[in-house]
This record gives sequence, C-alpha cells and structure tokens, in this order.
Amino acid sequence: MRITGVDVYKSNIPLTEPFRIATMEVTSAESVFIRVNTDEGLYGLGEANPSRVVTGETQAMNLAAAPDLARMLVGRDPLDVETRLGELDGFLARNSALKSAFDMALYDVLGKASGLPLYAFFGGGNRSFWTDITISLADPGGMALKAVELKRRGFRAMKVKLGTSRDEDRARIAEIRRAIGDDVPIRIDANQGWSRQTAVAVLGSLEPMGIEYCEQPVPHWDHEGMRLVRRLTSIPIMADESLLDHHDAFTLAWRACCDYFNIKLSKSGGLHTALKINAIAEGAGIPCMMGCRIETRLGLSAAAHLVSARPNIQFADLDGHFMLAEDPIVGGATYDVGEIRLPETPGHGADIDPSFLERCERVTVT
Ligand code: MG
Repeated sequence: MRITGVDVYKSNIPLTEPFRIATMEVTSAESVFIRVNTDEGLYGLGEANPSRVVTGETQAMNLAAAPDLARMLVGRDPLDVETRLGELDGFLARNSALKSAFDMALYDVLGKASGLPLYAFFGGGNRSFWTDITISLADPGGMALKAVELKRRGFRAMKVKLGTSRDEDRARIAEIRRAIGDDVPIRIDANQGWSRQTAVAVLGSLEPMGIEYCEQPVPHWDHEGMRLVRRLTSIPIMADESLLDHHDAFTLAWRACCDYFNIKLSKSGGLHTALKINAIAEGAGIPCMMGCRIETRLGLSAAAHLVSARPNIQFADLDGHFMLAEDPIVGGATYDVGEIRLPETPGHGADIDPSFLERCERVTVT
C-alpha cells in the first residue's frame, strides 16, 4: 500500500462559552484535520488541536508545517508506522499535536487495512467507561452552580480547574463540595499555577474535602517540586504538563514524582508514543488517565480506543467536545452522559461530515 496524498484542513469551531484555566482562556477550538489517502482507496483521519502553552504550537504553525510533513509521507507505505513517525520526528522536533494527527491517521489506515477497530488492533477489549466533566475556572459561586447542573445531568466525577491563589482555590472547592454533597469524586487541576509552598498549603487545606487527585500542582519543569509536594500531601499527584513523551514518563517514574500520569495524544505525538508511556507506567505501578484538548470526537475516539484497550488507563478526561457549538463528526465514540462506547468500525471509526469539510480551508499534497 502506498500513500497517494494528504489533505490538510483548517477547522475552527466556536465554544458554547469561554473556557478558562490558570494559564489561558479559549473561545474556539482551532484544530487541523489530516486525511491520509492511499492507492487502495483506504484513507485515515487525524486531528491536531495545538496547545501553545503546553507544546508551543498554534494552529497557524501546524498549518505551516503540515505540508512539509505530508510530503515526507507521499509515496511511502502507511502500514510501517514506526518508520513513518521516525521520519517525521527526524525532520521536525517537537510539534507533538501536529504529529498526533498524522499518527492517528496512519493508525486509522492500519485499523481499516486489518479490518479491526483500534482497541482490537491494540490487543484489547471493547469496554465502555466514564469520562469526568471539567469545570472552567471562575468565581467559587459560579463554579458551584455549574457543578450542581453537571451532577443533575448525571456526570459521575468532576474535574475542577484551580491554580490562582490559596484562598480562592480553597473557597472554590469548599463551595462546590457543599453544593454537590460528598458522593461525587472531585479531581482538581492547578495547571502549573502554584508555587511549591502554595501547592502544599492548598492541598493541605483540601485534604478533608474528598479530592481524588491533583493534576500538575507546580510548573512543568519542576520535577523536584512535584516530588516534594507529593511527599507533603495525602492527595495523589498526577503529572500532566510535565509529561509529554515516554522519556518524561521514565524520568517521572524513576524519580517518584507522581502517583498518576495524564496521557494526551496532543502531548505524546499520538497513539504510538502513548502506548510507550502506558507501558512505562505499568512497569512502575503508575495508573494513567487519558486526557484531551478541546477537540472533536475524532481525536477523542482515537484516545478512547486506547483507554478501552489498556486497563492501566483507569481514568478518562475525554470531555472536550462537550464545549463545542458544533459536532462535525460522523461515527466514532458515542457518549451517554459521560459513558463512552466505541463502535466496531475498523480504525478509530470516526469520520468528518463532508459538508463541514467543504467549509474548511484545505491544502492538498500529492
Ligand atoms: Mg491538566
């Protein structure tokens, strides 16, 4: 099989309301879709949702670099994913979100060529699982109201964005816990917003409030700080911005910096390296969560197959599409409130509505 061409699409979908975290505010989901076409009529689809504050990418950067990566694929065998991704890495460092779209598209072709949904291609089973739902950073009262609404809708776990000051963050969790009661797990995410001292102080005050774990309390580069914070609180610590690829996974595990890993395809460069991260995690006794960007059900479907296939991925934060004003994806993972189910379609099973693609700017490399 040979790759005959690659289509690159620019996709902008507004959010239903602005989404705020400690480091930025987002009002629209700016993705890049990649379609890898082959001489056997099969095609694979991938989605890149770049994160300027985590991986240093913007949509414009992804759109500028995508044709160069696409040219490296044309005429080559899409089934040799190891070699194809090695060539992309050899040509361009970093840019993991963009590479995740190519990775996802190649795995989609692999799945379709083998006639297997990706969870089965990875040697796993089809299991449904629940995602949490994220509450954007706001004032404590507003966040508590949102939490009550989400609990009423049936969501089983809340992920709460924090990371401003000790008193504000403590007030946010106290109000949310008061509003929703004690029967809903709360996960918190500081998005690198605390110093070591603030992290220890906030987490200490939150220990009686039923916190399942805390993501990225300190800046991404402060591995030693994360290790220290972990020793000084009983709340489990999850690495997110500190963990991009399998090299980070090895370092964080070896130095006992965290209890959990948050794997995201946009950080790992796709499924290929995400599998390596999970393997290191299993070896180190570290359960994982699969996280996401504010992306469509295409990227989320690829991530969901990995969750289904690997029970060590015990938590899912695959809620990005709930914020989108439009769902352009046909097939793929389906959501019953927060319960995710995968189809038996070969590949990741997600396609893009042709009428949506017609509205997107496109560049084709052949
Ligand atoms: Mg996070």
